[in-house]
Amino acid sequence: MTKTTDPALALHGGPKVKTEPFSTGKRFGLEEAKHLLEALEQNTLFYHSGEKVKTFLEEFNRLYGVQYSVATSSGTAAIHVALLACGVSVGDEVITSPITDMGTIVGILYQNAVPVFADLDPYTYTMDPKSVRERITPRTKAILSVHLAGNPCSMDEIMAIAREHNVKVVEDCAQSYLSYYKGRLVGTIGDYGCFSTNDFKHISTGDGGIVTVNSGEEDDYHRVHAFADKNYRRFGDSVNRDVEMLAPNYRMTELQGAVGIAQLKKLPWICKTRQVYGDRITEGISGLTGVFPHKVTEGGTCSYWFYMFRVMCDRDRFSDALNAEGIPSSAGYIPQVVYRYSLFQNRQAYERSRFPFDLSNVRYDSNLCPNAEAILQTAIRIPVSEFYSERDIDDIIQAVRKVANHLTA
Ligand SMILES: *Cc1c(COP(=O)(O)O)cnc(C)c1O
Repeated sequence: MTKTTDPALALHGGPKVKTEPFSTGKRFGLEEAKHLLEALEQNTLFYHSGEKVKTFLEEFNRLYGVQYSVATSSGTAAIHVALLACGVSVGDEVITSPITDMGTIVGILYQNAVPVFADLDPYTYTMDPKSVRERITPRTKAILSVHLAGNPCSMDEIMAIAREHNVKVVEDCAQSYLSYYKGRLVGTIGDYGCFSTNDFKHISTGDGGIVTVNSGEEDDYHRVHAFADKNYRRFGDSVNRDVEMLAPNYRMTELQGAVGIAQLKKLPWICKTRQVYGDRITEGISGLTGVFPHKVTEGGTCSYWFYMFRVMCDRDRFSDALNAEGIPSSAGYIPQVVYRYSLFQNRQAYERSRFPFDLSNVRYDSNLCPNAEAILQTAIRIPVSEFYSERDIDDIIQAVRKVANHLTA
């Protein structure tokens, strides 16, 4: 029922909720410039010779309370390196989420392993442990859990399944800096945690990535380190180029490391602000008929890379109405679940080859992950920024409430 006291939707000529522009800010400043200049003054931009990537990782390790991590050229690279470290190889299966960036999937296919998709919880948008368990086969080598939008996966259950079946766990933390799960930082729970510093993530080095080595074992660290550097074993003054297996060049440069040092200092503030803002939106839009807020995983905290809620009405209309109110929103996230992409429908990752799909009878039919498909068909995504003001958040809440009162109530 439409509340008669509500003004008309802006979409229908009524007054807009948002009358002032959103607050903005600068992500980069003199801090970054100072470290960049120092990097150049080193007279080398190679990570092994300079100090910037090393310092970046030391500070990351301190922030995360881990002993070892390795820098990479991207988040995609970080995940590929972690899968290499798990021993993922030809014909293995890796269980992951169907709502994610292609960067989650690329490394699986480059190892000639087969992606297997588990369904999601309908409201947290993270992998449902029950579905993960159903997807385990004798070929499963690893579970690649995606903490979507900063919301932790149910790691207790996922780690239990992994231990039971002797498979490795890689955490895709590209969207989930400083999110906690039962008091532990995500990225430190599985065997390896993978981060992205591409320009759209919580912090940016232009492009870049990090892999945490959670065993804390030096041997493990050395392997991961080599996998990001052509499998050259580059420690101290010596380089061992007698490579045992194939690994790409995924090195981070000193320029990225320099920017990263300055960006890391801002990370706690960025994540805290987003957490407060996202949780506040949830509080503000809870209890509306036909609107399901972005649910935080039980025992977790969320650092909201974006805010995504679901509506029980024509969501394109809902999104158009929000945009008309002055609140930028998009209908859905990725266009469809990953297994519906042409690559999977054609079972073709490489020209003139069905490899590695012909090694497996894994299927990519529609309705494979019904919750994930329903999420994408009913979701509305609102950007969250640490630069927004509290007033901006209140306007978002007011606009969602207004539109919901007209369209879903
Ligand atoms: C961004 C992203 C990646 C890939 O990171 P890049 O640095 O762009 O390679 C992987 N997984 C998820 C969930 C992401 O959001």
